[in-house]
Amino acid sequence: MSLDSDSHILVQALAFHSSLKGGRTSGQLFVSSAALTFNGGGEVVNFPLDGLVVTTGGSNNRLYFFAHPQFPEWSLCTPDRGAIEALLSIGNPSVLKQIHTIRTKRTQLSAGAFVGIILFIALLFGVWESRHFVAGYLAQFVPAEWEKKVGEVVYTASFADKEVNGRDGIQSRLEQLVEPLVEAASSSGYNFEFHIIKESTLNAFALPGGTIVIHSGLIERAERAEELLGVLAHEIAHVTERHVTKQLISAMGVYFAFDLLVGNIAGVLAQVSDLAPMLLTQKFSRDFERDADRQGFQFLQAAEIDPSGLTTFFKRMHEEEQSSIVGQINDSLAIISTHPATPERIEFLETELAKMQSTTYRSFGSEFEELKSLLRAAVEHRKSTSPADESNQEEEDQ
Ligand SMILES: [Zn+2]
Repeated sequence: MSLDSDSHILVQALAFHSSLKGGRTSGQLFVSSAALTFNGGGEVVNFPLDGLVVTTGGSNNRLYFFAHPQFPEWSLCTPDRGAIEALLSIGNPSVLKQIHTIRTKRTQLSAGAFVGIILFIALLFGVWESRHFVAGYLAQFVPAEWEKKVGEVVYTASFADKEVNGRDGIQSRLEQLVEPLVEAASSSGYNFEFHIIKESTLNAFALPGGTIVIHSGLIERAERAEELLGVLAHEIAHVTERHVTKQLISAMGVYFAFDLLVGNIAGVLAQVSDLAPMLLTQKFSRDFERDADRQGFQFLQAAEIDPSGLTTFFKRMHEEEQSSIVGQINDSLAIISTHPATPERIEFLETELAKMQSTTYRSFGSEFEELKSLLRAAVEHRKSTSPADESNQEEEDQ
């Protein structure tokens, strides 16, 4: 075969013809000012540029196909853009026109891809908008033991140094009191741990996985065991309904959820250790509060604990909140801000109470009063053993 003196380029190519073994052969493609020539497998195919048909195909139209009406049974193909560049530089008008058409299609395709990217971003924003829904969905798949680890890390980092229970029989009294409630919630698969911390503010909160933290102020201010247990039933429900985990995922975003789901527990823990304040200052949604009330109510019933304790406690808190100076945030009622005790919730609890058949409830002996007095002594003891530290601490917290 002879090549024109102005042969421009050679690229790897395939030639297709029914007479070839397997229908094709590989070789090289030459571009000259007059023709496109294939040479390989003992075959030489010459397509004059006049009348050359250029098309694309294959995945993402990455392949260039060449045909010619004078050789209807032959077809040439190359993935190499070099062939197109060479044809452009030769400038045969008909070939140029076809390449231009191919490029316009390409641009439209990449414009399509661009629209796709925009849609994807829009979808992400959509996900962000509906992140509470997504968080709720994802939280179901987080194993309880990982939640537990997250809760333990947050507790150790932020609260363990304020713990007052575990001595002087406080822990045993507390465990005795909550035992029926824990039993009622046992089918949830969570192991509950209760910690009392020295905080005069009136609050209790749940960490993911079953760690429940009770401010000493809450126990001191509760008038009956049923009031304390009512609040704890509500907190237990926040755990079993995975509200804290859902809140965490929606606050931290998709990457956090991903870490949590694939079990990158080191990554998760690195992120959550700084999170305790955020965890606790965030209000739960009304829906979460309603769910926790409903579920907590059921735990109380199953445990044969008078559920009116929660209502009377919240009513008293609500009245105190109303009577506090208008516009002044009453920090001692922190429980109201993290679990808003709206009249709506009190009404819901009262409606549930009214629906109930008359039942005999478990009666509590002296454990609750003993717990209160032991706790009072322990809090006093802490104050007197580290006066500087404690008084500073107390002022910060008030
Ligand atoms: Zn709540």
